[in-house]
Amino acid sequence: MPPRRNDATLDLSPDEMRELGREVMEWAVSYRLALAGLPALRRSPHDDITAKFCESLPAGPSDPRVVMRRVIDGALPFMGRADHPRYFAFVPGPANFVGIAADMLVAAANVFAGTWLEGSGPGAIELQTISWLAQLAGMPPTAGGLFASGGSMANLTALHAARDCKLSVADRQRAVIYCSDQTHSSIGRGLRILGFLPEQVCEIKTGEDFKIDLELLDTVIAADRAAGRLPFCLVSNAGTTNTGAVDPLDRLATVCERENLWHHVDGALGAGAILSERGRTTLRGLGRADSFSVDPHKWMFQPYACGCVVVRDKQKLKRAFSEVPDYLEDADASGEEINFWEYGPELTRPFRALKLWMSLEVFGADAFDAAIERGFELAELSERTVRGLPGWHVCSPASMGVVTFWYQPADMTDAEANRRNRYAARALTDSGFAAVLTTRLRGRIVVRMCTLNPRTTDDDIAETIARLDALIRAV
Ligand SMILES: *Cc1c(COP(=O)(O)O)cnc(C)c1O
Repeated sequence: MPPRRNDATLDLSPDEMRELGREVMEWAVSYRLALAGLPALRRSPHDDITAKFCESLPAGPSDPRVVMRRVIDGALPFMGRADHPRYFAFVPGPANFVGIAADMLVAAANVFAGTWLEGSGPGAIELQTISWLAQLAGMPPTAGGLFASGGSMANLTALHAARDCKLSVADRQRAVIYCSDQTHSSIGRGLRILGFLPEQVCEIKTGEDFKIDLELLDTVIAADRAAGRLPFCLVSNAGTTNTGAVDPLDRLATVCERENLWHHVDGALGAGAILSERGRTTLRGLGRADSFSVDPHKWMFQPYACGCVVVRDKQKLKRAFSEVPDYLEDADASGEEINFWEYGPELTRPFRALKLWMSLEVFGADAFDAAIERGFELAELSERTVRGLPGWHVCSPASMGVVTFWYQPADMTDAEANRRNRYAARALTDSGFAAVLTTRLRGRIVVRMCTLNPRTTDDDIAETIARLDALIRAV
């Protein structure tokens, strides 16, 4: 490409557009093919990496290919590759390529998915996709929702609807919300954003299985009522981040119906599994909730950012968010037409549903079922592998693609075990071969693996655990 002119239209010539587009797509494909051989995670110290991008704002033009190369060579090597087959840290994001292509399409069409007036076509696809998710969860036809940037925003959206639906303004101060001690931090933060005080959030202690203890919950609710407080919401987990524990959703639904609580299920990690037979069985009762969140950018294999909130009665979501200012009167929607901005906090919003819709159309639901089943099996394989090694113990068995374990021979102190487990996980991750980190459970530092990537091989699991074992013994 010739050097760029100083062009006030901010446009490229047709040939330049084609060439740049080809380069981006060519890179995307080669990157994907090379992925398994690249480090699963690589972090640069602050000063080294910022020095590469420290410059004054360029006044003149540059060749777009040169600029792109700087990103590819200078920035992209330093990141976690959540779609790498040996990325087992946090929650993997094993994006599928159809979803990636869908995002390119959405960017090119520059879809405004906030009003029906400006996005009826995309809106129809978003409604259909949400309807599939609601049906898979077992929710009635009154259900609706919207796509959001992720689980944190989906949870916040649902919690706002819960508050608006269940509480008068006067009641807010004596209101209480229940969750478990394993609940994701986005719930506490969401409640703080909504103005609840820490003492209004009651963490129910979990038992040995890291699930909400129903008896304890009943006792606490009764005590709160006796003390003049107002229980109004329970947040349960369809797969905790720490251990993949699934709270007893069906029995909790019964408690919530009896106690008139809004039941929100945080399914950011686990609700993606409703696309599989096993997931639907494990999450029985999900359809009785008032709302749930799901992160298609986790176990539904979509690129970031793609979260979703589904509410059993979509009118409740609308009542909680709808405002119609003068300048949006012309964008009023009628009947079944939906202005998504009336259902959540965003007005301008991208067309996040397309990637999930397109990949479901292209691969079919059966392929997703098999891909999710593979995630369940990989965690079970990891568990079996660890059980076969001397000195290792399973802390929480495989659940929703998560397993935790630790190394501690009989003569090793807890402090020494903590030190070694953390050291081995960090050393393995620093090596780039795999990303495996630790968490803290029952006061112990344990290794945690989350195995949602359907492209992870049995060998990947075997080699990852063998390397951990070698590192921990060599300390
Ligand atoms: C990942 C996760 C979240 C947060 O979702 P984001 O998409 O990161 O905003 C919330 N809850 C659980 C259980 C999660 O695993």
